[in-house]
Amino acid sequence: MVEKAKKIWMDGKLVNWDEANVHILTHSLHYGMAVFEGIRCYRCDDGRSAVFRLKEHTDRLFDSAHIAQMEIPFSKDEINNAIIELLKANDLKECYIRPIAFLSYGSMGLFPKENPVKVAIAAWQWGAYLGEEGIKKGIRVKVSSFTRFHVNNMMTKAKITGHYVNSIMAKKEVVAMGYDEALLLDTDGYVSEGSGENIFMVKNSILKTTPLTSVLNGITRDSVMRIARDKGITVVEGRFTRDELYTADEAFFTGTAAEITPIREVDNRQIGKGRPGPITEAIQKIFFDIVLGREKKYQEWLTCL
Ligand SMILES: *Cc1c(COP(=O)(O)O)cnc(C)c1O
Repeated sequence: MVEKAKKIWMDGKLVNWDEANVHILTHSLHYGMAVFEGIRCYRCDDGRSAVFRLKEHTDRLFDSAHIAQMEIPFSKDEINNAIIELLKANDLKECYIRPIAFLSYGSMGLFPKENPVKVAIAAWQWGAYLGEEGIKKGIRVKVSSFTRFHVNNMMTKAKITGHYVNSIMAKKEVVAMGYDEALLLDTDGYVSEGSGENIFMVKNSILKTTPLTSVLNGITRDSVMRIARDKGITVVEGRFTRDELYTADEAFFTGTAAEITPIREVDNRQIGKGRPGPITEAIQKIFFDIVLGREKKYQEWLTCL
């Protein structure tokens, strides 16, 4: 169960958690056209809280809305300020933040003729998405029989709610078989991403991730590429197959929810030594040092409350 906080921001007002409701004929609820973000706020070593890459997340929310042709009735600054205001009102030191812009009550046909765009932001405490154990020891992954959608079928660069039907199907399928997370292939059969995470593999000390063609442009993915390059690791964006992944030395998922979660097994084949490898561990360590405010070099990624 989601851990309740005190307030939720709805269209400019802070409302009580239990009163943050919408009408049952909310257009987005019926047809899946809403855009959202997932952001994390961490408690730094100095006791202050900091939101990780807030600007990039808000920019992407607006990009998603642009792709969906939804006009958000607030400016980016207003959304950024609303997030900070919400975290302060809830007294949350460390949390997950979920802004969502949706088509509200109005017309009921597919064409949203008279459905104003509304915005809500919630925040709550949320630990490791794929488990603490997963972050430390790695998870077991299975390629799903559901493929990631074709690029002209859904818009892979947008976090649009309806897209996640595909992700949920894939996730339920593999969880029912006893795995931790699903890996989806693209329509050409190449590796794309997890149900809500980008994927990286390491072979002969080279870090490789799928190109942006069929995947979401992850902010954690971008952060990892920058961290790796700053460490002198070669990073390649290129297509790879599931069997190339089977023979990788290391592999891991990245995402705001999943953070950096090592993959120890894919389709019952052990990856490398079956535990987080040295490059994964090194990147993971720097990533957590950054979000906890220990790395001065990446200070610009943190918005302190
Ligand atoms: C949100 C998401 C990710 C991860 O993106 P981050 O910006 O790192 O949180 C990856 N894939 C999909 C499908 C997602 O929805």
